[in-house]
Amino acid sequence: MLINCPECGKEISDESKQCVHCGFPIARYLNQQREKEYIEQNPNEQPKAYKVFNIIQFVSCIILLLFILAFIVVYAFTSGNPFKDDILPLTVFIISEIVGIAIDIIVCGILKACFRRK
Ligand SMILES: [Zn+2]
Repeated sequence: MLINCPECGKEISDESKQCVHCGFPIARYLNQQREKEYIEQNPNEQPKAYKVFNIIQFVSCIILLLFILAFIVVYAFTSGNPFKDDILPLTVFIISEIVGIAIDIIVCGILKACFRRK
């Protein structure tokens, strides 16, 4: 199909990579146009990066709940004293995981906000 070059206005094929008259990168331009159209037609569609962080955040929440559950189990198992010598390493591990995953969830939230399409 013939189109007019957006740079020089002369007729060129929409399948050429560059305008034969002025060298305008027509293929890249058309790709950007298509992308823009797609975004306009799907305004609620979020970028891939957003979706990936959303999944990581969701999985992290589940793991966080499991570690909180583990802490409750340890707490009950040790009759309210999870810092006893023999169980202390396990308790420290569980707490450090809870803190680490909580930070992970917050970071995912920040990154999601960065990539969110308005
Ligand atoms: Zn041109």
